[in-house]
Parts: sequence; structure tokens; C-alpha cells
Amino acid sequence: MGSKGTYSRGGMQFRVHTACRRCGRHSFHRSKKVCSHCGFGKGPKLKTYTWQRKKVIGRANRKV
Ligand SMILES: [Zn+2]
Repeated sequence: MGSKGTYSRGGMQFRVHTACRRCGRHSFHRSKKVCSHCGFGKGPKLKTYTWQRKKVIGRANRKV
């Protein structure tokens, strides 16, 4: 047999992320002071990537 349920005992006490004030998620890095989800702390803008938005252009462009 062996050990049973010793995972939650000790360790992992340090919480790296805490609740973000902007997005409300538990993604605000305490030492980095940056939210990994919305980018709060980095700048005034929300964190966005170009690949996040779907491109719709190019549909009417095509000639049949
Ligand atoms: Zn956030």
C-alpha cells in the first residue's frame, strides 16, 4: 500500500495568484502585480491578442 491522502498536507501554502480587481478572476499575480487573465497592472488596456478575434473579412472579396 503506501501513503494515502497526504497531498493536501503542507506545501502549496503560498498563493501566487489572488483575486483580480478588474476581472474578478483568481489570476492576479502577487509578485508580478499583473493579472494573467485580463492584464490588469500592465496597462490601462485589456489584454487582447490578435488571434482572439475571428476574421470575417475575405468572404465578399472572393470572385466566383
Ligand atoms: Zn484580471
